Amino acid sequence: VRTDVDLTAAALDRAYVDGRWTAADSGEVVEVVDPATGRRIGSVPKMGADETRVAIEAAHAAWNDWRARTAGERSTVLRRWADLIADHEEELAALLTAEQGKPLAESRAEIGASAAFLTWFAEEGRRAYGQTIPTDRADRRLQVIRQSVGVVAAITPWNFPSSMITRKAGPALAAGCTMVVKPSEETPLSALALARLADRAGVPAGVFNVVTGTAREIGGELTSSALVRKLTFTGSTRVGKLLGEQSAGTVKRVSLELGGNAPFIVCDDAELDAAVEGAVRSKFRNAGQACVATNRIYVQDGIYDRFVAAFVARVRALAVGNGAVAGVEVGSMINPVAAQSMSSLVDDAVERGATLACGGGAHEHGPAFFAPTVLLDADDAMRCCSDETFGPIAPVMRFHDDDEVVRRANATAYGLVAYCYTTDYRRLTRIAEGLEFGMVGMNDFSVSTEVAPFGGVKESGIGREGSHWGLDEYTEIKYVCTGGM
Ligand code: ADP
Repeated sequence: VRTDVDLTAAALDRAYVDGRWTAADSGEVVEVVDPATGRRIGSVPKMGADETRVAIEAAHAAWNDWRARTAGERSTVLRRWADLIADHEEELAALLTAEQGKPLAESRAEIGASAAFLTWFAEEGRRAYGQTIPTDRADRRLQVIRQSVGVVAAITPWNFPSSMITRKAGPALAAGCTMVVKPSEETPLSALALARLADRAGVPAGVFNVVTGTAREIGGELTSSALVRKLTFTGSTRVGKLLGEQSAGTVKRVSLELGGNAPFIVCDDAELDAAVEGAVRSKFRNAGQACVATNRIYVQDGIYDRFVAAFVARVRALAVGNGAVAGVEVGSMINPVAAQSMSSLVDDAVERGATLACGGGAHEHGPAFFAPTVLLDADDAMRCCSDETFGPIAPVMRFHDDDEVVRRANATAYGLVAYCYTTDYRRLTRIAEGLEFGMVGMNDFSVSTEVAPFGGVKESGIGREGSHWGLDEYTEIKYVCTGGM
Protein backbone atom coordinates (compact mmCIF):
# COMPACT_ATOMS: atom_id res chain seq x y z
CA VAL A 1 0.00 0.00 0.00
CA ARG A 2 2.07 2.93 -1.19
CA THR A 3 0.72 6.26 -0.06
CA ASP A 4 1.56 9.78 -1.15
CA VAL A 5 3.10 10.64 2.22
CA ASP A 6 5.98 13.13 1.91
CA LEU A 7 9.11 11.82 3.66
CA THR A 8 11.57 14.44 2.45
CA ALA A 9 13.58 16.44 5.00
CA ALA A 10 11.73 19.64 4.10
CA ALA A 11 8.38 18.07 5.02
CA LEU A 12 9.57 16.85 8.42
CA ASP A 13 10.03 20.17 10.20
CA ARG A 14 7.60 19.65 13.09
CA ALA A 15 7.55 17.41 16.15
CA TYR A 16 4.64 14.98 16.65
CA VAL A 17 2.66 15.42 19.86
CA ASP A 18 -0.81 14.04 20.55
CA GLY A 19 -1.35 13.33 16.86
CA ARG A 20 -0.49 16.88 15.82
CA TRP A 21 2.51 18.35 13.99
CA THR A 22 3.84 20.89 16.44
CA ALA A 23 6.44 23.70 16.59
CA ALA A 24 8.40 24.68 19.70
CA ASP A 25 6.67 27.17 22.04
CA SER A 26 9.56 29.55 21.34
CA GLY A 27 9.42 28.97 17.59
CA GLU A 28 13.13 28.09 17.68
CA VAL A 29 14.59 25.28 15.60
CA VAL A 30 17.60 22.97 15.52
CA GLU A 31 19.32 22.60 12.14
CA VAL A 32 19.94 19.14 10.71
CA VAL A 33 23.12 18.70 8.66
CA ASP A 34 24.33 16.07 6.18
CA PRO A 35 27.66 15.02 7.71
CA ALA A 36 29.10 13.93 4.37
CA THR A 37 28.72 17.38 2.78
CA GLY A 38 28.28 19.70 5.77
CA ARG A 39 25.13 21.06 4.12
CA ARG A 40 21.94 21.89 6.04
CA ILE A 41 19.15 19.56 4.99
CA GLY A 42 16.34 20.60 7.32
CA SER A 43 15.37 21.76 10.77
CA VAL A 44 13.21 20.53 13.65
CA PRO A 45 11.61 22.29 16.65
CA LYS A 46 13.86 23.11 19.59
CA MET A 47 11.57 21.93 22.36
CA GLY A 48 12.21 21.75 26.09
CA ALA A 49 10.54 20.69 29.33
CA ASP A 50 7.14 22.36 28.73
CA GLU A 51 6.47 20.70 25.38
CA THR A 52 7.69 17.40 26.82
CA ARG A 53 5.18 17.65 29.67
CA VAL A 54 2.39 18.12 27.13
CA ALA A 55 3.55 14.99 25.27
CA ILE A 56 3.72 12.95 28.49
CA GLU A 57 0.20 14.03 29.45
CA ALA A 58 -1.06 13.12 25.97
CA ALA A 59 0.59 9.70 26.23
CA HIS A 60 -0.92 9.18 29.66
CA ALA A 61 -4.40 10.14 28.45
CA ALA A 62 -4.10 7.83 25.44
CA TRP A 63 -3.00 4.85 27.57
CA ASN A 64 -6.51 4.03 28.83
CA ASP A 65 -7.96 3.38 25.41
CA TRP A 66 -4.83 1.76 23.94
CA ARG A 67 -4.37 -0.77 26.73
CA ALA A 68 -8.09 -1.62 26.70
CA ARG A 69 -7.86 -2.80 23.09
CA THR A 70 -7.20 -6.45 22.43
CA ALA A 71 -3.68 -7.53 21.57
CA GLY A 72 -5.05 -8.49 18.15
CA GLU A 73 -6.32 -4.96 17.51
CA ARG A 74 -2.96 -3.46 18.48
CA SER A 75 -1.23 -6.04 16.32
CA THR A 76 -3.21 -4.96 13.26
CA VAL A 77 -2.12 -1.34 13.69
CA LEU A 78 1.54 -2.30 14.21
CA ARG A 79 1.52 -4.50 11.11
CA ARG A 80 0.11 -1.68 9.04
CA TRP A 81 2.89 0.59 10.33
CA ALA A 82 5.52 -2.05 9.47
CA ASP A 83 4.07 -2.46 5.98
CA LEU A 84 4.19 1.28 5.34
CA ILE A 85 7.84 1.38 6.46
CA ALA A 86 8.69 -1.48 4.09
CA ASP A 87 6.77 0.18 1.26
CA HIS A 88 8.71 3.43 1.72
CA GLU A 89 12.13 1.81 2.19
CA GLU A 90 13.84 3.90 -0.51
CA GLU A 91 12.74 7.31 0.80
CA LEU A 92 13.46 6.34 4.41
CA ALA A 93 16.91 4.99 3.51
CA ALA A 94 17.79 8.13 1.56
CA LEU A 95 16.73 10.32 4.49
CA LEU A 96 18.71 8.17 6.93
CA THR A 97 21.89 8.38 4.85
CA ALA A 98 21.43 12.13 4.38
CA GLU A 99 21.28 12.88 8.11
CA GLN A 100 23.56 10.11 9.39
CA GLY A 101 26.16 9.34 6.71
CA LYS A 102 26.05 5.53 6.48
CA PRO A 103 26.09 3.90 3.02
CA LEU A 104 22.69 3.51 1.37
CA ALA A 105 22.90 -0.29 1.46
CA GLU A 106 23.27 -0.14 5.24
CA SER A 107 20.39 2.34 5.50
CA ARG A 108 18.15 0.01 3.48
CA ALA A 109 19.10 -2.86 5.79
CA GLU A 110 18.29 -0.70 8.82
CA ILE A 111 14.87 0.24 7.45
CA GLY A 112 14.22 -3.46 6.84
CA ALA A 113 15.15 -4.14 10.45
CA SER A 114 12.88 -1.29 11.61
CA ALA A 115 9.90 -2.90 9.95
CA ALA A 116 10.92 -6.36 11.20
CA PHE A 117 10.88 -5.26 14.86
CA LEU A 118 7.31 -3.99 14.49
CA THR A 119 6.17 -7.14 12.68
CA TRP A 120 7.79 -9.40 15.28
CA PHE A 121 6.22 -7.61 18.23
CA ALA A 122 2.85 -7.38 16.48
CA GLU A 123 2.99 -11.18 16.63
CA GLU A 124 4.62 -11.51 20.06
CA GLY A 125 2.12 -9.12 21.70
CA ARG A 126 -0.58 -11.70 21.17
CA ARG A 127 1.37 -14.17 23.27
CA ALA A 128 1.85 -12.15 26.46
CA TYR A 129 0.70 -15.14 28.45
CA GLY A 130 0.12 -15.22 32.17
CA GLN A 131 0.12 -18.29 34.40
CA THR A 132 -2.14 -20.15 36.76
CA ILE A 133 -0.23 -21.35 39.82
CA PRO A 134 -1.30 -24.61 41.53
CA THR A 135 -2.85 -23.30 44.70
CA ASP A 136 -1.37 -23.66 48.18
CA ARG A 137 -4.84 -23.69 49.81
CA ALA A 138 -8.06 -25.32 48.67
CA ASP A 139 -10.15 -22.17 49.28
CA ARG A 140 -8.26 -19.86 46.94
CA ARG A 141 -6.89 -19.56 43.39
CA LEU A 142 -3.62 -17.95 42.27
CA GLN A 143 -3.32 -16.26 38.92
CA VAL A 144 -0.62 -14.19 37.27
CA ILE A 145 -1.44 -11.73 34.47
CA ARG A 146 0.80 -9.43 32.46
CA GLN A 147 -0.19 -5.80 32.00
CA SER A 148 1.39 -2.82 30.23
CA VAL A 149 3.71 -0.72 32.41
CA GLY A 150 2.25 2.61 31.27
CA VAL A 151 3.86 5.64 29.63
CA VAL A 152 7.33 4.81 28.27
CA ALA A 153 10.05 7.39 27.60
CA ALA A 154 12.53 6.39 24.88
CA ILE A 155 15.80 8.25 24.36
CA THR A 156 17.54 7.05 21.21
CA PRO A 157 20.94 7.50 19.52
CA TRP A 158 22.08 8.74 16.12
CA ASN A 159 23.93 5.60 14.98
CA PHE A 160 20.77 3.60 14.22
CA PRO A 161 18.20 6.41 14.17
CA SER A 162 15.34 4.30 12.83
CA SER A 163 15.68 0.74 14.13
CA MET A 164 16.54 1.81 17.70
CA ILE A 165 13.11 3.45 17.82
CA THR A 166 11.04 0.55 16.50
CA ARG A 167 12.98 -1.93 18.66
CA LYS A 168 11.43 -0.03 21.59
CA ALA A 169 8.12 1.11 20.08
CA GLY A 170 7.27 -2.40 18.83
CA PRO A 171 7.19 -4.11 22.22
CA ALA A 172 5.91 -1.01 24.05
CA LEU A 173 2.90 -0.50 21.80
CA ALA A 174 2.23 -4.24 21.43
CA ALA A 175 2.10 -4.57 25.22
CA GLY A 176 -0.37 -1.68 25.50
CA CYS A 177 2.03 1.06 26.58
CA THR A 178 2.13 4.54 25.08
CA MET A 179 5.32 6.39 24.36
CA VAL A 180 7.29 9.63 24.12
CA VAL A 181 10.44 9.39 21.99
CA LYS A 182 13.34 11.81 22.13
CA PRO A 183 15.58 11.10 19.14
CA SER A 184 19.16 12.27 18.93
CA GLU A 185 19.51 15.91 17.89
CA GLU A 186 21.87 14.70 15.12
CA THR A 187 19.21 12.49 13.49
CA PRO A 188 15.65 13.61 14.31
CA LEU A 189 14.32 13.29 10.76
CA SER A 190 14.22 9.49 10.67
CA ALA A 191 12.18 9.56 13.89
CA LEU A 192 9.71 12.07 12.45
CA ALA A 193 9.42 10.00 9.27
CA LEU A 194 8.45 7.01 11.43
CA ALA A 195 5.87 9.19 13.19
CA ARG A 196 4.41 10.25 9.86
CA LEU A 197 3.92 6.62 8.88
CA ALA A 198 2.56 5.72 12.34
CA ASP A 199 -0.02 8.44 11.84
CA ARG A 200 -0.95 6.97 8.43
CA ALA A 201 -1.11 3.48 9.88
CA GLY A 202 -3.78 4.50 12.38
CA VAL A 203 -1.74 4.64 15.57
CA PRO A 204 -4.13 6.74 17.70
CA ALA A 205 -3.24 10.28 18.78
CA GLY A 206 -1.05 10.33 21.90
CA VAL A 207 0.08 6.70 21.64
CA PHE A 208 3.37 7.52 19.86
CA ASN A 209 4.89 10.99 20.30
CA VAL A 210 8.20 12.42 19.09
CA VAL A 211 9.68 15.43 20.88
CA THR A 212 12.79 17.10 19.39
CA GLY A 213 15.11 19.68 20.91
CA THR A 214 17.36 20.15 23.90
CA ALA A 215 18.46 16.76 25.29
CA ARG A 216 19.11 17.84 28.89
CA GLU A 217 15.76 19.59 29.29
CA ILE A 218 13.67 16.93 27.57
CA GLY A 219 15.54 14.15 29.38
CA GLY A 220 15.10 15.93 32.72
CA GLU A 221 11.34 16.09 32.27
CA LEU A 222 11.05 12.51 31.01
CA THR A 223 13.05 11.10 33.92
CA SER A 224 11.44 13.18 36.69
CA SER A 225 7.80 12.84 35.64
CA ALA A 226 5.79 10.50 37.83
CA LEU A 227 3.52 9.76 34.85
CA VAL A 228 6.42 8.10 33.00
CA ARG A 229 6.69 4.55 34.33
CA LYS A 230 9.61 3.35 32.28
CA LEU A 231 12.74 4.73 30.65
CA THR A 232 14.29 2.88 27.73
CA PHE A 233 17.60 4.27 26.52
CA THR A 234 20.19 3.39 23.89
CA GLY A 235 23.38 5.43 23.92
CA SER A 236 26.62 5.95 25.77
CA THR A 237 27.38 4.42 29.17
CA ARG A 238 28.06 7.91 30.52
CA VAL A 239 24.59 9.25 29.65
CA GLY A 240 22.94 5.93 30.58
CA LYS A 241 24.31 6.18 34.12
CA LEU A 242 23.10 9.75 34.39
CA LEU A 243 19.59 8.88 33.20
CA GLY A 244 19.51 5.87 35.52
CA GLU A 245 20.30 8.14 38.46
CA GLN A 246 17.67 10.65 37.37
CA SER A 247 15.07 7.88 37.06
CA ALA A 248 15.71 6.63 40.59
CA GLY A 249 13.75 9.53 42.10
CA THR A 250 10.48 8.10 40.78
CA VAL A 251 11.63 4.43 40.84
CA LYS A 252 11.10 3.94 37.14
CA ARG A 253 11.77 0.70 35.42
CA VAL A 254 14.80 1.13 33.16
CA SER A 255 16.20 -0.65 30.13
CA LEU A 256 19.67 0.55 29.14
CA GLU A 257 21.55 -0.45 25.99
CA LEU A 258 24.94 1.17 26.49
CA GLY A 259 28.46 1.04 25.13
CA GLY A 260 30.58 -1.96 24.30
CA ASN A 261 34.20 -2.94 23.81
CA ALA A 262 33.87 -6.00 21.60
CA PRO A 263 36.84 -8.36 21.34
CA PHE A 264 37.19 -10.27 18.07
CA ILE A 265 39.13 -13.51 18.61
CA VAL A 266 40.69 -15.45 15.73
CA CYS A 267 41.96 -18.91 16.72
CA ASP A 268 44.62 -20.86 14.80
CA ASP A 269 42.00 -23.24 13.42
CA ALA A 270 39.65 -20.50 12.14
CA GLU A 271 38.56 -20.38 8.52
CA LEU A 272 40.74 -17.49 7.37
CA ASP A 273 38.41 -15.97 4.78
CA ALA A 274 35.42 -16.03 7.11
CA ALA A 275 37.42 -14.49 9.95
CA VAL A 276 38.76 -11.68 7.74
CA GLU A 277 35.32 -10.96 6.36
CA GLY A 278 33.82 -10.98 9.85
CA ALA A 279 36.48 -8.65 11.20
CA VAL A 280 36.08 -6.16 8.33
CA ARG A 281 32.30 -6.13 8.44
CA SER A 282 31.94 -5.99 12.22
CA LYS A 283 34.59 -3.26 12.46
CA PHE A 284 33.79 -0.93 9.57
CA ARG A 285 30.01 -1.17 9.30
CA ASN A 286 28.59 2.30 10.01
CA ALA A 287 32.25 3.53 10.07
CA GLY A 288 32.69 1.66 13.35
CA GLN A 289 29.96 3.67 15.06
CA ALA A 290 28.02 0.81 16.63
CA CYS A 291 27.92 -0.47 20.19
CA VAL A 292 28.47 -3.98 18.73
CA ALA A 293 31.41 -2.87 16.54
CA THR A 294 34.60 -4.87 16.92
CA ASN A 295 36.89 -2.78 19.13
CA ARG A 296 40.03 -4.95 19.45
CA ILE A 297 41.21 -7.98 17.49
CA TYR A 298 43.11 -10.90 19.10
CA VAL A 299 44.81 -13.29 16.68
CA GLN A 300 46.53 -16.53 17.70
CA ASP A 301 50.22 -16.99 16.82
CA GLY A 302 49.77 -19.70 14.18
CA ILE A 303 47.40 -17.68 11.97
CA TYR A 304 48.64 -14.17 12.82
CA ASP A 305 50.74 -13.44 9.71
CA ARG A 306 48.18 -14.80 7.26
CA PHE A 307 45.30 -12.98 8.99
CA VAL A 308 47.12 -9.65 9.11
CA ALA A 309 48.14 -9.78 5.43
CA ALA A 310 44.60 -10.54 4.26
CA PHE A 311 42.92 -8.14 6.70
CA VAL A 312 45.12 -5.14 5.86
CA ALA A 313 44.71 -5.74 2.12
CA ARG A 314 40.94 -5.88 2.51
CA VAL A 315 40.80 -2.69 4.64
CA ARG A 316 43.00 -0.79 2.18
CA ALA A 317 40.56 -1.68 -0.59
CA LEU A 318 37.44 -0.39 1.22
CA ALA A 319 35.58 2.23 -0.83
CA VAL A 320 35.20 5.36 1.30
CA GLY A 321 32.90 8.22 0.31
CA ASN A 322 29.50 9.87 0.49
CA GLY A 323 27.10 7.12 1.61
CA ALA A 324 24.56 8.25 -0.99
CA VAL A 325 26.91 7.17 -3.81
CA ALA A 326 26.47 3.60 -5.06
CA GLY A 327 29.29 1.21 -4.17
CA VAL A 328 30.57 3.16 -1.15
CA GLU A 329 31.35 0.79 1.75
CA VAL A 330 32.39 3.26 4.46
CA GLY A 331 30.62 6.61 4.76
CA SER A 332 31.29 9.69 6.85
CA MET A 333 31.25 9.71 10.61
CA ILE A 334 28.43 11.55 12.38
CA ASN A 335 30.26 14.89 12.48
CA PRO A 336 33.76 16.45 12.20
CA VAL A 337 34.29 16.28 15.99
CA ALA A 338 33.85 12.51 15.91
CA ALA A 339 36.40 12.22 13.09
CA GLN A 340 38.89 14.49 14.89
CA SER A 341 38.65 12.42 18.07
CA MET A 342 39.98 9.41 16.14
CA SER A 343 43.39 11.04 15.60
CA SER A 344 44.15 11.17 19.33
CA LEU A 345 43.48 7.41 19.61
CA VAL A 346 45.89 6.72 16.76
CA ASP A 347 48.53 9.07 18.23
CA ASP A 348 48.26 7.40 21.64
CA ALA A 349 48.72 3.95 20.09
CA VAL A 350 51.67 4.95 17.92
CA GLU A 351 53.39 6.72 20.85
CA ARG A 352 53.05 3.49 22.85
CA GLY A 353 54.61 1.38 20.10
CA ALA A 354 51.86 0.40 17.68
CA THR A 355 52.59 0.25 13.94
CA LEU A 356 50.27 1.97 11.51
CA ALA A 357 49.48 -0.50 8.71
CA CYS A 358 46.98 1.70 6.87
CA GLY A 359 44.81 4.78 7.34
CA GLY A 360 45.49 6.78 10.46
CA GLY A 361 44.27 10.21 9.46
CA ALA A 362 41.61 12.43 7.98
CA HIS A 363 40.22 11.43 4.61
CA GLU A 364 40.17 13.60 1.48
CA HIS A 365 36.35 13.39 1.28
CA GLY A 366 35.80 15.95 4.03
CA PRO A 367 36.13 16.86 7.70
CA ALA A 368 33.67 14.21 8.93
CA PHE A 369 35.61 11.38 7.27
CA PHE A 370 38.33 9.25 8.84
CA ALA A 371 40.34 6.72 6.86
CA PRO A 372 39.82 3.05 7.78
CA THR A 373 42.78 2.31 10.04
CA VAL A 374 44.67 -0.81 11.13
CA LEU A 375 47.16 -0.68 14.02
CA LEU A 376 49.49 -3.66 14.46
CA ASP A 377 51.52 -4.57 17.57
CA ALA A 378 48.81 -3.00 19.72
CA ASP A 379 48.42 -3.82 23.40
CA ASP A 380 45.52 -3.85 25.87
CA ALA A 381 46.64 -0.65 27.62
CA MET A 382 46.33 1.52 24.52
CA ARG A 383 43.25 3.73 24.52
CA CYS A 384 42.07 2.27 21.19
CA CYS A 385 41.79 -1.08 23.01
CA SER A 386 40.65 -0.04 26.49
CA ASP A 387 38.16 2.69 25.42
CA GLU A 388 35.11 2.24 23.25
CA THR A 389 36.52 3.61 19.95
CA PHE A 390 33.23 4.19 18.09
CA GLY A 391 35.11 4.73 14.83
CA PRO A 392 37.02 3.03 12.02
CA ILE A 393 40.15 1.98 13.94
CA ALA A 394 41.14 -1.70 14.20
CA PRO A 395 43.94 -2.57 16.65
CA VAL A 396 45.38 -6.07 16.21
CA MET A 397 47.08 -8.05 19.00
CA ARG A 398 48.57 -11.54 19.34
CA PHE A 399 47.52 -14.23 21.79
CA HIS A 400 48.93 -17.66 22.68
CA ASP A 401 46.24 -19.75 24.39
CA ASP A 402 42.52 -19.78 25.10
CA ASP A 403 42.58 -19.04 28.82
CA GLU A 404 44.77 -16.02 28.20
CA VAL A 405 42.57 -14.55 25.47
CA VAL A 406 39.34 -15.08 27.43
CA ARG A 407 40.91 -13.37 30.44
CA ARG A 408 42.07 -10.43 28.31
CA ALA A 409 38.71 -10.22 26.50
CA ASN A 410 36.88 -10.04 29.85
CA ALA A 411 39.20 -7.40 31.33
CA THR A 412 36.85 -4.48 30.61
CA ALA A 413 33.96 -2.75 32.33
CA TYR A 414 31.87 -3.43 29.23
CA GLY A 415 30.05 -6.68 28.41
CA LEU A 416 27.91 -6.27 25.31
CA VAL A 417 29.17 -8.61 22.58
CA ALA A 418 32.26 -10.70 21.78
CA TYR A 419 33.18 -12.49 18.55
CA CYS A 420 35.26 -15.62 18.07
CA TYR A 421 36.26 -17.66 15.01
CA THR A 422 37.27 -21.30 15.46
CA THR A 423 36.30 -24.60 13.81
CA ASP A 424 36.89 -26.70 16.94
CA TYR A 425 33.54 -27.24 18.69
CA ARG A 426 35.17 -27.88 22.09
CA ARG A 427 37.05 -24.57 22.00
CA LEU A 428 33.95 -22.86 20.63
CA THR A 429 31.84 -24.10 23.54
CA ARG A 430 34.39 -23.30 26.26
CA ILE A 431 35.20 -19.85 24.91
CA ALA A 432 31.52 -18.94 24.42
CA GLU A 433 30.79 -19.98 28.00
CA GLY A 434 33.83 -18.15 29.40
CA LEU A 435 33.18 -14.76 27.80
CA GLU A 436 31.44 -12.32 30.15
CA PHE A 437 29.27 -10.69 27.52
CA GLY A 438 25.52 -10.55 26.93
CA MET A 439 25.98 -11.81 23.36
CA VAL A 440 28.59 -13.94 21.63
CA GLY A 441 29.04 -14.28 17.86
CA MET A 442 30.80 -17.58 17.14
CA ASN A 443 31.86 -17.67 13.48
CA ASP A 444 29.30 -14.90 12.91
CA PHE A 445 29.69 -11.14 12.99
CA SER A 446 26.07 -9.99 12.81
CA VAL A 447 24.17 -11.02 15.93
CA SER A 448 21.35 -8.46 15.92
CA THR A 449 17.95 -9.78 14.84
CA GLU A 450 14.43 -9.17 16.05
CA VAL A 451 14.04 -12.83 17.06
CA ALA A 452 16.95 -12.97 19.56
CA PRO A 453 17.66 -11.16 22.86
CA PHE A 454 20.02 -8.19 22.36
CA GLY A 455 21.66 -6.69 25.42
CA GLY A 456 24.66 -6.44 27.66
CA VAL A 457 26.04 -7.29 31.09
CA LYS A 458 28.28 -5.20 33.38
CA GLU A 459 28.34 -1.52 32.33
CA SER A 460 26.92 -2.33 28.89
CA GLY A 461 23.41 -2.24 30.21
CA ILE A 462 20.29 -3.65 31.77
CA GLY A 463 17.55 -5.56 29.97
CA ARG A 464 17.09 -7.22 26.59
CA GLU A 465 15.55 -6.03 23.33
CA GLY A 466 14.03 -8.22 20.63
CA SER A 467 12.72 -11.78 21.13
CA HIS A 468 9.98 -12.69 23.61
CA TRP A 469 12.19 -11.34 26.41
CA GLY A 470 11.97 -7.93 24.75
CA LEU A 471 8.23 -7.85 25.38
CA ASP A 472 8.66 -8.65 29.08
CA GLU A 473 10.46 -5.33 29.53
CA TYR A 474 7.18 -3.50 28.83
CA THR A 475 4.86 -5.56 31.02
CA GLU A 476 4.35 -5.77 34.75
CA ILE A 477 3.50 -9.03 36.47
CA LYS A 478 0.28 -8.83 38.45
CA TYR A 479 -0.54 -11.59 40.90
CA VAL A 480 -4.26 -12.04 41.61
CA CYS A 481 -5.08 -14.10 44.70
CA THR A 482 -8.79 -15.01 44.83
CA GLY A 483 -9.95 -16.31 48.21
CA GLY A 484 -13.25 -17.44 49.76
CA MET A 485 -13.76 -20.26 47.25
P1 ADP B 1 25.73 8.63 21.31
O1 ADP B 1 26.94 9.48 21.24
O2 ADP B 1 25.95 7.20 21.03
O3 ADP B 1 24.53 9.20 20.62
P2 ADP B 1 24.75 9.70 23.76
O4 ADP B 1 24.59 8.96 25.03
O5 ADP B 1 25.54 10.95 23.76
O6 ADP B 1 25.37 8.61 22.81
O7 ADP B 1 23.35 10.02 23.12
C1 ADP B 1 22.27 9.13 23.11
C2 ADP B 1 21.00 9.89 23.32
O8 ADP B 1 21.04 10.48 24.61
C3 ADP B 1 20.75 11.03 22.35
O9 ADP B 1 19.37 11.09 22.03
C4 ADP B 1 21.16 12.23 23.14
O10 ADP B 1 20.50 13.41 22.73
C5 ADP B 1 20.69 11.84 24.52
N1 ADP B 1 21.32 12.57 25.63
C6 ADP B 1 22.58 12.98 25.76
N2 ADP B 1 22.76 13.63 26.93
C7 ADP B 1 21.56 13.63 27.56
C8 ADP B 1 21.07 14.13 28.81
N3 ADP B 1 21.86 14.76 29.65
N4 ADP B 1 19.76 13.93 29.11
C9 ADP B 1 18.95 13.27 28.25
N5 ADP B 1 19.35 12.78 27.08
C10 ADP B 1 20.63 12.95 26.72
